[in-house]
Amino acid sequence: MDHFEPRDGVLHAEDVPLTRIAAEAGTPIYVYSAATIERHVRVFREALAGVDDPWIAFAVKANPNRAVLATLARLGLGADVVSGGELLRALAAGIPADKIVFSGVGKTAEEMTLGLQRGIGQFNLESLEEAEMLSEVASGLGLTAKVAFRINPNVDAGTHSKISTGRADDKFGIAYDRATAAFARAAKLPGLDPVCVAVHIGSQLTDLAPMRAAFERVGSLIRELRAAGHEILRADLGGGLGVPYNPAVPAPPIPTDYGAMVAEVTAGWDVRLIFEPGRVIVGNAGIMLTRVIRVKEGATYPFVVVDAGMNDLLRPSLYDAWHNIRAVEPDGETFVANIVGPICETGDTFARARAMDRVKAGDLVAFMTAGAYGATMANTYNSRGLVPEAMVSGGEWAIVRERQPVEALIEADRLPPWL
Ligand SMILES: *Cc1c(COP(=O)(O)O)cnc(C)c1O
Repeated sequence: MDHFEPRDGVLHAEDVPLTRIAAEAGTPIYVYSAATIERHVRVFREALAGVDDPWIAFAVKANPNRAVLATLARLGLGADVVSGGELLRALAAGIPADKIVFSGVGKTAEEMTLGLQRGIGQFNLESLEEAEMLSEVASGLGLTAKVAFRINPNVDAGTHSKISTGRADDKFGIAYDRATAAFARAAKLPGLDPVCVAVHIGSQLTDLAPMRAAFERVGSLIRELRAAGHEILRADLGGGLGVPYNPAVPAPPIPTDYGAMVAEVTAGWDVRLIFEPGRVIVGNAGIMLTRVIRVKEGATYPFVVVDAGMNDLLRPSLYDAWHNIRAVEPDGETFVANIVGPICETGDTFARARAMDRVKAGDLVAFMTAGAYGATMANTYNSRGLVPEAMVSGGEWAIVRERQPVEALIEADRLPPWL
């Protein structure tokens, strides 16, 4: 459920008409609903009612805007970060260091130093090579890091290949059958305290069965590790729960069913559970608002050319993502059209042969469920400044990231002395 609903014929974000935001801030722009974010946190927490004291670490990569993170910080969430930059953003937004988990396959010594100095809660290691580097960095600083090994359970998440992370040949984690040896080695390294088993098999999962299979493997590993004398205090179950993008296809499992499955599988583990939800918290808390530049005649269907491009919303071209596309002021008619951006790439196509609200030049259009992996993937291709972001709360709204002027891009270039 979200808080983007039509009122008197105009699509609103909570109590603010999107027409007002477009008039005052221009397009394209992302618009987030604080009430929707808050609601999703509540729903996720309630779904975990069967879990004692869950550590919910929002996956910052889904939406790193400082206002979004500050909203989550106020609600008591921690953060799952995958770079030094995300770590600094999470801290800047007021998320306490001890609620931060540092994931990712390529942490550098500098990033490890930063995490150690700031006192983060846990490092999720993805290889023995990485464990050795962290050991060296931590002992050099005279510190000890609480660590997890992320296991590759060799489970196919059944999602898009580019967002599957738990198959044997994916780059993530340590092979399940090497995990015991990795823990044995890490336990002997100075500066490391291996206390956790972690798993994350992919994103936009629409079926609980692969997650259950992965969690069961974590459970067996915890038993094996304990039998070998390791003190396992935590298990990190990652993120990945899908959100509904297309109202015409069956919806992904609801958080309550996910929570019930987790409670069942993890019963008796006797660990603190860590969760790293991203998309499910912010996905449908955001939309991308864009204006139709013109409608161009096409061979089969008209092309609706909007002022947002693949540089502003990469998901459709990156992994064939489907976004519901609605007119902000629909006239009640529909048509079938291709929706494209202005970028000089055929990949700059948001939807083909889409049955949608009829729109014409000048109309506003909303790309729904764009709050996760939206603005954060934006880039400046075709010399377009980074897309701005706004947040609504009740009847109030504010810009939470400025539109980047193209002058900033030009000024960032330097001419060599010979020109
Ligand atoms: C991306 C990611 C997440 C979040 O995934 P969602 O599908 O957005 O919930 C969680 N953990 C790790 C390690 C990730 O890489």
